Amino acid sequence: MATPKYIVVLQCHIVKERCSGFFCENAFWNRQGGFADYPQDQPIRLLTLTCGGCCGRATLRKLSHFLKRLRKHSDISPPEVVLHFASCICKENFHGPKCPHYDYLKELVERKGLAWREGTRISDHAENRRDELGHWTWKKE
Ligand code: SF4
Ligand code: SF4
Repeated sequence: MATPKYIVVLQCHIVKERCSGFFCENAFWNRQGGFADYPQDQPIRLLTLTCGGCCGRATLRKLSHFLKRLRKHSDISPPEVVLHFASCICKENFHGPKCPHYDYLKELVERKGLAWREGTRISDHAENRRDELGHWTWKKE
């Protein structure tokens, strides 16, 4: 697996209404969770985006804008970019079930010709709960 030069993290717009995204960035900085395979000693740029809200269609426009600017203002090409679906999109977690439009989002990313991977911050606690129960449980109100 070649090390990407640029990582785009796609995050859930609804979740980002209350989440700063710190744990995504922190996992990247420390090369943990979904970023654990990337070397610490190579420069990798990072961009975070939200899907724009259900059904996530704005992702296409945002990625189009990003790729145009990337081609014009950097020496990085699209094959050197990897998109990571944030854990709040691709996994059940504290914030709710995984995105109901996940397959659609993957299709949009693929239509823009980008490679993608799953996960950003992956908490041990959440992984244990998913492994033990097969699903997340939320507190009853
Ligand atoms: S994965 Fe976690 S830190 Fe990243 S945007 Fe989603 S809720 Fe926030
Ligand atoms: S489309 Fe999915 S990722 Fe985007 S806001 Fe809706 S639930 Fe969140």
